[in-house]
Amino acid sequence: MASAPQLVVEGELRSVNPATLELVGVVPVTPPEEVAGLVAEAANAQEKWGATSFDERRALLLRVARTLLERMDDIAATVTAETGKPIVESFTNELLLAVEQVVWLASHAERVLAPERLRFGIPYLAHKRAHVVYEPLGVLGIIAPWNFPFSIPLTQVAMAVAAGNAVVLKPSELTPLSGDWVARVFAEAGAPDGLVRVAQGAGETGGALVTAPGVAKLIFTGSGATGRRILASAAELLRPVVLELGSKDPMLVFEDADLRRAVDGALWGSFANCGQVCVGVERIYVARELHDRFVSELSRRATELRIGLGEDPGTELGPLISEQQRAKVEDLVSEAKERGAEAIVGGRRPALDLPGWFYEPTVLTGGDPAARIEREEVFGPVVTVRPFDDEDEAVALANASPYGLGASVWTRNPERARRVGARIDAGMVSTNDIGYSYGAGPAPWGGTKQSGFGRTHGKHGLFECSQIKLVDADSGRVPVLWWYPYSRGTLDGFKGVVELLHGDAKLRALWKHRRGLAQLVRRAVRAEVRGAALSSEEKSAP
Ligand code: NAD
Repeated sequence: MASAPQLVVEGELRSVNPATLELVGVVPVTPPEEVAGLVAEAANAQEKWGATSFDERRALLLRVARTLLERMDDIAATVTAETGKPIVESFTNELLLAVEQVVWLASHAERVLAPERLRFGIPYLAHKRAHVVYEPLGVLGIIAPWNFPFSIPLTQVAMAVAAGNAVVLKPSELTPLSGDWVARVFAEAGAPDGLVRVAQGAGETGGALVTAPGVAKLIFTGSGATGRRILASAAELLRPVVLELGSKDPMLVFEDADLRRAVDGALWGSFANCGQVCVGVERIYVARELHDRFVSELSRRATELRIGLGEDPGTELGPLISEQQRAKVEDLVSEAKERGAEAIVGGRRPALDLPGWFYEPTVLTGGDPAARIEREEVFGPVVTVRPFDDEDEAVALANASPYGLGASVWTRNPERARRVGARIDAGMVSTNDIGYSYGAGPAPWGGTKQSGFGRTHGKHGLFECSQIKLVDADSGRVPVLWWYPYSRGTLDGFKGVVELLHGDAKLRALWKHRRGLAQLVRRAVRAEVRGAALSSEEKSAP
């Protein structure tokens, strides 16, 4: 049996093809003590970039999109070599959706981040001229996973840059060459030097980025365990963090679903990218009357998936990313089987002439509902299927998870889809589809519960990358009545103001607090007169 290749050797990351175990390339590790220097370079670039017009930002993003098109074959080949994923998926899930996001940012960032006039709707603030403005934060630290090693960091970097920030990116140590492509694409598109820097390495380098001086905010995508560690270190510095973490997405198939489409969706949702998808389907709940047909059809189709080398355009299932990842999948499946689950298909390594970390697509049914596989993220080509009796039970099963990233509802009834969607505790619920919104510009991406917090993509993602600031331009001529001095009369006057503005008995309030209100009016007039006198003195001063 092939043994796991060593990943970090004498200051170098060795990127290994998980299907063939051949070396894809070698990248120098960024020593943790050099990360602060990269942040300083990015900060330098950001000073000018933060002051650019949206025309300049749009022009860069459109050049990035063009570069993606020119380089797509090279990028896809690198991604497939480093992850083993089918080459079709390197185009759909890595390139197509990255281009879509960049183009959306190019055409919408200006509108989303335009200063927004605030109208307070309060009589004594009617004279204010207030705006919310969205300013760049500075340098963002982006820490990325290996499962979508290009599209996740590329779209997050593009979002940060569109909002006027610079970025230091730390790609996964398992996919450093795909991560390098992100910076290369920006450089080839003519981005200012330093705008996108890359720190390569594992947790030590990532940890150095989390605490490096000058990082304004972190966007982390990865496991809950690492997310917790990052949040703890960032908390010491009161440094804000967006966390995009794992999940265990449910799929609810109702009795009125299109069975064929549901099976197609389940197959792709569970096994695309070898199941290593944060919004991958890991739990399927099917209306009892459809359950057996669904299981047998899904299982039959799973055995037909073509397993092999990602470079082959006909390959539908590649390997898992590492020996460790396969061992975790095997462990969870074997515990589930020990607790009574049945592997209708799969549950073992395929017989292939390849040394990599392959595992057969696996459909599990039955067994102990308290087995680990029902709660823990598998992140492999394994799905469990269970029946439900009614809508309430389906919703309860979907929500009985510590995670809440995505979910899907399969029904021909849009009313039911909306009703069930509203009851599911997740960041994103789709109907008769899965995960498509990652490539849709306006759609916010993110989860609830242990799937993290904050949003990437869409206008909410742009807001995450911005300092949201209130700025107003007051002429200074309207007196402020709640400033000093205080007196019994002022107190009575303000009681009157509250009751007049928000109480039901307005006439009674006017009469009851007439003295205090009159005093406020006199103060306002005196302040007005004093202000006018002062400004005419100023004007006539030599
Ligand atoms: P991981 O947590 O092992 O690693 C993620 C990144 O964090 C890597 O770059 C890693 O080097 C870095 N890292 C590790 N230790 C660190 C530390 N102490 N300080 C700073 N950085 C550190 O996750 P992974 O295995 O690469 O990714 C798989 C996980 O990511 C799954 O749980 C998956 O669901 C999740 N994921 C979530 C989303 C989402 O959008 N919510 C998207 C993709 C993947």
